[in-house]
Amino acid sequence: MNINLYRRRRLRSTQPILTRVQIRDLGRKIGFTSFRQSVEFFMDPYNYFKLSKIKMADIHQYLLDQGITHEKCPTTHIRQGDHSRVLISILFPGYPIIKASEQHYRDLRENRSPQAKVIDLAYDQLPVTDKFERLEELYSTPVDWHQRESKSKEYTVEIPLKRLNRSILVEGHASSKLNVRLFLYLWVSERMAWTPSSVCLSVDHSAKDCLSAQDKKLHEYGFNHIDITETTDAITKANRRSTGSLPFTFTFHGKRPNIRHVSVCAVVEKSSQELTSQLYVQTASLYIGQAMESSSRNVPLAQATQKQVIEQLRPFDLKDKLYLPKTETIFLSCAEKFLTAWNNHDKEDKEEDDKDIEIYTGGEYISVLDPIMLSRIEHPTRCIFCAHNTCFDAEVFFKFQVTSMQWKCPICLVKIRGIQDLYIDYHAKLALKKYPNEERFLLEKNDVYLPIEPLAPVQVDMKNIPEKRNVAEIISLDDDGDDADSELTSKRQRS
Ligand SMILES: [Zn+2]
Repeated sequence: MNINLYRRRRLRSTQPILTRVQIRDLGRKIGFTSFRQSVEFFMDPYNYFKLSKIKMADIHQYLLDQGITHEKCPTTHIRQGDHSRVLISILFPGYPIIKASEQHYRDLRENRSPQAKVIDLAYDQLPVTDKFERLEELYSTPVDWHQRESKSKEYTVEIPLKRLNRSILVEGHASSKLNVRLFLYLWVSERMAWTPSSVCLSVDHSAKDCLSAQDKKLHEYGFNHIDITETTDAITKANRRSTGSLPFTFTFHGKRPNIRHVSVCAVVEKSSQELTSQLYVQTASLYIGQAMESSSRNVPLAQATQKQVIEQLRPFDLKDKLYLPKTETIFLSCAEKFLTAWNNHDKEDKEEDDKDIEIYTGGEYISVLDPIMLSRIEHPTRCIFCAHNTCFDAEVFFKFQVTSMQWKCPICLVKIRGIQDLYIDYHAKLALKKYPNEERFLLEKNDVYLPIEPLAPVQVDMKNIPEKRNVAEIISLDDDGDDADSELTSKRQRS
């Protein structure tokens, strides 16, 4: 596969499923006079967080009228950010919304007035991996621990139970089955969270230290949170009608850190299956974006492409985005439908890419055994920076790398910044489905995976073998001498 193409496309892949006419219409709705302004606004998912509730309802209605979505417009009770998430997931299927929402929160904090009473803590600067998706801060309070010395080295903060309510509705994230966790942070300043490596935590005066060995390991990896979700029954059962508060007592070993704030935020923890699903949708959206982009200048073609995209996505609602069997189907059907758009594009880019490709030295033997588990790959994945054709399995990768802050390709060890750097290899996926028992393939130049027949003892006429033969030039062993001969001659002529 041509990796450079993937890389370039990946970088320009945010493309809403809107035609230019629709972008202009929507721009007028929110008061833009020029088409250029509308394009700049609607192409960037992050801008959807800037829209007021009324404008979002307006846009949503337009999308319903145009048949772009069947998702009902949420009532006015929906929180602003949640409606933004819904719109982004409709218009940018597969886009990792967290990237836009974190930028939004960062902007909010940086642009707040110096008089603002509320303290915005720097969540976006906390280390997270794609495994955790931050939702929002549930509680934050200033503490005076930095000012007073406690003899017992114990410091307590009381947190109202109703603020530890996990059952918050996250419409943009859909599924109620999401694993929402509560992360507690200790802050030495508004921007710096303290790594809780040398502390004991007791919740509700229990004698037990709530920090497990697993927590301590996470802190070594660079995470700063304390997962308090299951520390007591009171928290697991908390809802918005809960009364009273819960004392959290910290005992610091060694030097007392200057803790100034304590906060709790809600986070979605994704399983490796959910992350794999996300990767399928993300790759599918790459195909969709490409198809929309290459048809955008031709209005009837753009409309036809949009219609196809909507048809492809119709059977899947927002809840299915983290459901593996459904996302695999989305991926395969989008690839089948829209890969032609890519291939047309290939021709345009061909000249440029020919410079990147080294001299073709024949096909390559590809193992489809995962480098970590040595089991057959199910979800063939690669990083956009990898220069190899071999894949690894997405689910296995997420299972083993996800708690680490530093992701690396298990094959070439290249650094992976996050899920946005990964993609599913469609041709490898097809081959794995088509030949369910093969463990090795011959990858031809045109992305065709050929199963490797088991070797049988064959009489080879030594005279027919050219001096320097490429691995790829497989000669059908069943052919008689004459045919093999002419095959070789034609190959030589071609090259
Ligand atoms: Zn690699």
